[in-house]
Amino acid sequence: MKPKLTALIIGAGIGGIATAGRLARQGYDVTVIEKNEKPGGRCNQIIRDGHRFDLGPTLFLMPEVFAETYAALGERMEDHLDLRRIDPTYKVYFEDGLQLQLTADIGKMQAQLEQVEKGAFGGFLRYIAEGNQHYKISLEKFVGRNFKSLLEYFSLGNLPLLFRLKALKKHFANTGKFFKDERLKAAFTFQNMYLGLSPYDAPATYSLLQYTELADGVWYPIGGMYRVIETLTAIAEKLGVKFIYNTPVKKLDTDRKRVKGAVLEDERVLSADIFVGNADLPYIYNSLLPDRKTAQKLDQKAYTCSTIMFYWGVDKTYPQIAHHNVFLAGDYKTSFEKIFDEHSLPEEPSFYIHAPARTDRAAAPEGQDTLYVLVPVGHLDPSRTQDWDKMIERARRTVFERLAKEMDVTDLEEHIKFEIVYQPDTWLERFNLQKGAAFGLSHNFWQVGYLRPQNRHNLYKNLYFAGASTHPGTGLPIVLLSAKLTTERILTEVGQYNERQTAQSALTAAQV
Ligand SMILES: Cc1cc2nc3c(=O)[nH]c(=O)nc-3n(C[C@H](O)[C@H](O)[C@H](O)COP(=O)(O)OP(=O)(O)OC[C@H]3O[C@@H](n4cnc5c(N)ncnc54)[C@H](O)[C@@H]3O)c2cc1C
Repeated sequence: MKPKLTALIIGAGIGGIATAGRLARQGYDVTVIEKNEKPGGRCNQIIRDGHRFDLGPTLFLMPEVFAETYAALGERMEDHLDLRRIDPTYKVYFEDGLQLQLTADIGKMQAQLEQVEKGAFGGFLRYIAEGNQHYKISLEKFVGRNFKSLLEYFSLGNLPLLFRLKALKKHFANTGKFFKDERLKAAFTFQNMYLGLSPYDAPATYSLLQYTELADGVWYPIGGMYRVIETLTAIAEKLGVKFIYNTPVKKLDTDRKRVKGAVLEDERVLSADIFVGNADLPYIYNSLLPDRKTAQKLDQKAYTCSTIMFYWGVDKTYPQIAHHNVFLAGDYKTSFEKIFDEHSLPEEPSFYIHAPARTDRAAAPEGQDTLYVLVPVGHLDPSRTQDWDKMIERARRTVFERLAKEMDVTDLEEHIKFEIVYQPDTWLERFNLQKGAAFGLSHNFWQVGYLRPQNRHNLYKNLYFAGASTHPGTGLPIVLLSAKLTTERILTEVGQYNERQTAQSALTAAQV
């Protein structure tokens, strides 16, 4: 019997786990090496004193993409996840006192929008219809497929689609076609922040996010987002994947055309037929591979923002805080300039609060609360003075002040039992995210599709990538698509490679 092909995956983020499971199902002998003590990467959890926090992702979007992954691994998603739809999806708070509840309830949306601006409901319907188009075209023609060349990406068939997707228009400016009120434009563009992007920079294509939230829903798995990781890891193990934790890969040993082995901290070398880098792609080029030129080029690309996170265990509940709450800065535009141009914390920061115990009581002890606060900030930038302690203190004060002003939550500070803080340095140290950019490489026009770093190394033909900083991009469902596309590419190319090897051996044998 032919020996199994071996695959070594560097990183047990959702992209690494899904790729591992898919390859194992295709008969590969797969090992995953993870630097930290458990799987999940950014999709992780913290449990302390009975409080359970999601570390990063809190929004379960595009459930059909998750379902496809479970199915590809021979399972049914509904046997593993108890999903609850969150509706209203968010409460949105504006500096001037306006509140909106984004909901799939069309009647309620109509009443709220018409109160802010006459005719805005019609604009909303047209906006969602455009989002629907963007979603369908993107998924089918750009996000859900591999591109072999620039010509294929900019083919005669694709070019008109790029225009239909408004890929060269800016998202915020494009909402002006649907709404006049600046607050409504903000309410339908802040979602770009999930991709770590400014709506003043993001392509108008991203109205697909609002469409998918309202049409397909925002969901939450009982037990927390980490259920996705726990169940996918267990399924991968059942398929034979071996996970090795607390083991950072120090470097990749290469010859001219291939990666020969992964060198661990203790100098052990693990070899395999193929390698898949799930750790952040710019970090792999920068820290694990020898080629400095490409690493430097990647370093100069645009990166997403970072975040300051507060995880608060609270000895009281605040029912006025909903499952998802968004607080938008009064000076919306300037706040993005501060984050993306100056790599700092805006004077008036926007922020997001997650209170999972509203949907899942077990997330906090009886009568208490588990609060996660995400404040977007600039990524690490050594060319500037970035006083993180000061920024963290200012962010914390802003959260207390706005909660007091807009929700009448005046005593939170006294009821915080413990606080855990994450900041850009933490994202860098814990997960090796280049520049501490929480969402990886940015998704501007020049860094998507074929223009994004590809999922196979140009030179080392047995080194593939799956994860947020390669094609198609960041966000859990998109990274699941990355795992699918990378696996498809491996299966096609390694198949071809073997055929070539066989043909070559036959030729050599004939010549002898
Ligand atoms: C604060 C925050 C909020 C988010 N919110 C959402 C959301 O609501 N919904 C959503 O869909 N997405 C959200 N995202 C995005 C989502 O979390 C990411 O896109 C996704 O988790 C990335 O997965 P990945 O597998 O590409 O990478 P990662 O999760 O980064 O996994 C890579 C793994 O590689 C490991 N590694 C690194 N270096 C090495 C090494 N040398 N050796 C071995 N292992 C190594 C890391 O420890 C890590 O476990 C959020 C992200 C953040 C940070």
